[in-house]
Amino acid sequence: MWDINGFQSAISNQLELYLHKLRQLVEMESPSGDKVRLDQLSQVIADEWSELGMTVSVQNQAESGNHLLIRWDPSGVDLQLQPWLVVGHFDTVWPVGTLEKMPFRQDSHVIYGPGTYDMKADLVMAWLTVFEMQKSGIKPSRPVVFLWTTDEEVGSTTSRELIESQARQAYAALVLEPPLANGALKTARKGVGCYRLEVQGRSAHAGVEPEKGRSAIVELAHQILMIQSLARPDLGTTLNLGQIGGGTANNVVAESAWAEVDARVSTMEEAERLDDEMQSKLKPVNPDIVLTISGGLNRPPMVRTLETVRLFETAKEIAGRLGVNLIEGATGGGSDGNFTSAVGCPTLDGLGLEGAGAHAPHEQIDLRSVPFRATLLAGMLSEVAGIESTIELQYLKKRS
Ligand SMILES: [Zn+2]
Repeated sequence: MWDINGFQSAISNQLELYLHKLRQLVEMESPSGDKVRLDQLSQVIADEWSELGMTVSVQNQAESGNHLLIRWDPSGVDLQLQPWLVVGHFDTVWPVGTLEKMPFRQDSHVIYGPGTYDMKADLVMAWLTVFEMQKSGIKPSRPVVFLWTTDEEVGSTTSRELIESQARQAYAALVLEPPLANGALKTARKGVGCYRLEVQGRSAHAGVEPEKGRSAIVELAHQILMIQSLARPDLGTTLNLGQIGGGTANNVVAESAWAEVDARVSTMEEAERLDDEMQSKLKPVNPDIVLTISGGLNRPPMVRTLETVRLFETAKEIAGRLGVNLIEGATGGGSDGNFTSAVGCPTLDGLGLEGAGAHAPHEQIDLRSVPFRATLLAGMLSEVAGIESTIELQYLKKRS
């Protein structure tokens, strides 16, 4: 077994290199959907990983930024083994120009900047982990595939297939998204759905002949309460009517109206129940009005399976050797871990750096968490805790 405490110290000595690389990535703004900028950043990241001797395959996209599929096949590692899959993204929610208001800056151990915490800092952490593993002669237990994508913040439309196909072939997926606020890893995530309701009524002059109108807004009011009643918070199903709209003027009976619904579910059964009821239970109160419902589940739930628990236990054991009491938790937010988990790949999420303010102006990471989190990743990839065989057994049983 290699010296994990020594590895952690070695990472602590590389923080200047770490900051240099992080600054470079953060100062290249990369909002989802900006193909030109994402591709430029993609090239920079590809070059850095190529320098480590990895096989970098640029996954060209027509509309979104190019994704990166990076494979690490160290000599002496059995290439027939199912690989680890490490998942992350380098698109951010921040529009171009954000850097002017919230520049990359360091205040003691806190590093601020758009896309630091979510999640460029984690891509650089992974790079440093591999860099140091190579330097210290520590090999992963099996090949490693790093998948860095460009559209996670907008639902992973173009990367989903790639994520799922890699997950189907992988031994297990490690998702480098931020942990919970207390540093806890994520072993369950809710599924995320999105629905849109369109209400078609009939317009009329509000003063002259209101009786001829069929108000889409009044109808929408009925439907909003109906939709809300489909929530089952006791089963983890919550609904949020985040946006509504309709009508054209005060003196016109509204001809049309609409609502957007965000749905969160803990199980596939609930996702199906909700989907059925959205279609079957929403009936117009006014028979002259037409309702149209579109949308559905975007990210299936990431369920806390036995394999996920085993992965967490491995992480917990590694953390314990470093003097950290690692805990697990669940979140209502989705990530690409939802996709890897749903195709049957054991998934552990929240392995990224500690920090705060995802999607907020005070977005930041805690530089002090780099040595521990990098060592945790190295420990997972090399299976330093040595309980691989148990996971393998459970996993094979499930797939057969
Ligand atoms: Zn993210």
